[in-house]
Amino acid sequence: MMQALVKKYAKPGIWMESVPIPKIGVNDVLIKVSKAGICGTDLHIVNWDDWAQRNIKPPRIIGHEFVGEIVELGAEVEGYAVGDRVTAEGHITCGLCRNCLAGKKHLCASSIGIGGGCDGAFAEYLAMPVTNLWRVHDDIPSEIAAILDPFGNAVHTALSFDLVAEDVLITGAGPIGIMAAAVSRFVGARHIVITDVCDYRLKLSEKMGVSRTVNVAHEKLEQAVSDLRMSNGFDIGLEFSGNPVAFNSMINSMYHGGKIAILGFLPPTTEISWDQVIFKGLHLKGIYGREVFETWYKMTQMLRSGLDISPVITHRFPMQEYKDAFDVVRSGLCGKVILEW
Ligand code: NAD
Ligand code: ZN
Repeated sequence: MMQALVKKYAKPGIWMESVPIPKIGVNDVLIKVSKAGICGTDLHIVNWDDWAQRNIKPPRIIGHEFVGEIVELGAEVEGYAVGDRVTAEGHITCGLCRNCLAGKKHLCASSIGIGGGCDGAFAEYLAMPVTNLWRVHDDIPSEIAAILDPFGNAVHTALSFDLVAEDVLITGAGPIGIMAAAVSRFVGARHIVITDVCDYRLKLSEKMGVSRTVNVAHEKLEQAVSDLRMSNGFDIGLEFSGNPVAFNSMINSMYHGGKIAILGFLPPTTEISWDQVIFKGLHLKGIYGREVFETWYKMTQMLRSGLDISPVITHRFPMQEYKDAFDVVRSGLCGKVILEW
């Protein structure tokens, strides 16, 4: 048996339970989890909001950001050994559809996420298909390896367009927006302006090389544009807030021909000025997950080349203190929060 955080009932809450250690198939490995990151999605599941009620079927072990060590190999597994430090792509794809066959797993229409569609990583042990594993390079600390999943969201979004010498607007200074700012700086963006309504998070983003923070609750984005003497507007927009007001301010402040990558889950009722999109010739791209495994490669090599995302980790809790950890995430006064066994 093992300890795990289980969404046991269809109501708000999360429960530490004793459950069986997962059995592995011939092409799976069993991983002993050492550290895990809390994602906004986990909080949705704990809070049992509309999205969670529509998408999660209890009982379910939650969590999808993790690092650990292989403790058992399926009979057909090659290329890995017991003791290897690994994390994994949390989207399990069908392997059969057009996009999977073309090596574009991030576009698989039948992908299932661990910690949501199947059991996840807030557990002492986790079974993963070997094809989802990502070996953690010796240069990368385990704490950073535990958040490669959300870092990968940031990298996938930020590397969607050429940022060199471009003026970049980032809406939403949550952990993913902040990491995207660090990537934008690392690859050579010119000005990076980041917006939020939370001073704690804007302050954190200053450690990641942004040119200007804007608290849109009491400052105008136009002021930042004029302070930075940007003549045209933003060339690149990276949306991480999931907030329609933020998205509209982005659309309005883009230069003609600008490109926007959208990761934040905007509500279906979001309205925008389509005139702006059409007459400015804007490009809009939706981003889901990570490109498997090209994003993982780029993440590893940027980290090994000096990109430092460590300031984004602000809190660490023993797994047993999960209630306090979720309270910190709920408060918004944090970057990434790590749970440790
Ligand atoms: P988060 O909720 O921690 O961050 C969102 C930030 O937006 C918060 O800091 C919030 O204060 C800020 N915000 C709210 N209103 C704003 C406004 N008007 N202007 C500017 N900022 C505003 O989320 P995160 O973990 O950093 O993730 C970013 C987004 O991406 C979330 O919407 C999340 O659900 C989504 N997400 C998408 C994918 C995907 O694959 N597409 C994967 C992970 C997360
Ligand atoms: Zn597929």
